[in-house]
Amino acid sequence: MKSARIPGPNKPLVVVDLETPKPQDNQVIVKVKAVGVCHSDLHLWEGGYDLGDGQFMKVTDRGVKYPVTPGHEIVGVVEEMGNSVKDYSKGDEVLVYPWIGCGECPACKVGNENLCDTPKSLGVFQDGGYSDFALVPHYKYLAKLSGVDPESATSLACSGLTAYNAIKKSNVNSPEYLVIIGAGGLGLMGVQIAHAITNAKIICVDLDDEKLKTAKEMGADYVVNSKDPETSQKIISICNDKGADSVVDFVNAPPTAKLGISVLRKRGNLVLVGLFGGSLELSLVTIPLKSITIQGAYTGNYNDMVELLDLTRKGTINPIITKRYTLSEANTALEDLKARKILGRAVINP
Ligand code: NAD
Ligand code: ZN
Repeated sequence: MKSARIPGPNKPLVVVDLETPKPQDNQVIVKVKAVGVCHSDLHLWEGGYDLGDGQFMKVTDRGVKYPVTPGHEIVGVVEEMGNSVKDYSKGDEVLVYPWIGCGECPACKVGNENLCDTPKSLGVFQDGGYSDFALVPHYKYLAKLSGVDPESATSLACSGLTAYNAIKKSNVNSPEYLVIIGAGGLGLMGVQIAHAITNAKIICVDLDDEKLKTAKEMGADYVVNSKDPETSQKIISICNDKGADSVVDFVNAPPTAKLGISVLRKRGNLVLVGLFGGSLELSLVTIPLKSITIQGAYTGNYNDMVELLDLTRKGTINPIITKRYTLSEANTALEDLKARKILGRAVINP
């Protein structure tokens, strides 16, 4: 099989010929039809995350081993199955749940494998979908598409799933005003999902007017370009001069997190999702005085992914795929994402 692999941090991806694995027991080989290109693939390519103050968190310290085949938004057809596989047959169109855990820690035991202490995620800690074929360790990580468009479905494994989990967290205080920062792959899904499952008025923030235009089409009530130095005041005045009840930050870099905190009203809820990184100084006393909640959100669990597939099948949400690449164009796909040239999501069709 052909796979586009990252040989090491900041090295161009190379397409290599590998032996297609033979599935054992509960394993399944999926012939990849489309795989989403996520900003997290870029962090993996760059070798880690910016911790701020010149510090860097290396993915190798978190258990990543290069060379690695990226790609965690995998859709394809069942090609071959181990002897113990049930419920699936060759040719079934499937979406793959990539956030695989150990199965034994407290998070895994309650079905939150995405929060496992020793994750084994596909396309991060084991080979993913920038490949003709992907080895899925157990058929329980598959979900049948049953009518959902394969390219649209790719988003549901990460960008949609993460946005769904984050928007649910932002919705616990029944927000009247919800600010969504970042209108990229995740943020545009966030806008659609918030429009579908909350009663909030949605304010979307980005640096790019074209992305903000799309956010408006997807259900944002207001859009603000944060190049404007008055962004914070503008948002507060939209929110009846009180501020936003909830903010979801799909960028999570110092300027956006600062903006999020500055527009949050009393009892407000800040959900940090993006991995752009950096660090921030907090004015500690405002947190108790305003009784603010700051929390993180990391992907979502298998059941959330199945719920999202249902919402997509009903047409409630409609992931936007605007660009397609071949496997040998994987470097270009990542460069284009880095240069902010991609609206919504791009996919690779191996
Ligand atoms: P993307 O590149 O598609 O979108 C990023 C968007 O943020 C773009 O629209 C860009 O214009 C905007 N942006 C960048 N800097 C900004 C700033 N200072 N102010 C306002 N807008 C700004 O990326 P994506 O695939 O949507 O991923 C977003 C982030 O979320 C990445 O760091 C990714 O690794 C991370 N991520 C987190 C999880 C999780 O579970 N927490 C899951 C997937 C991805
Ligand atoms: Zn992702």
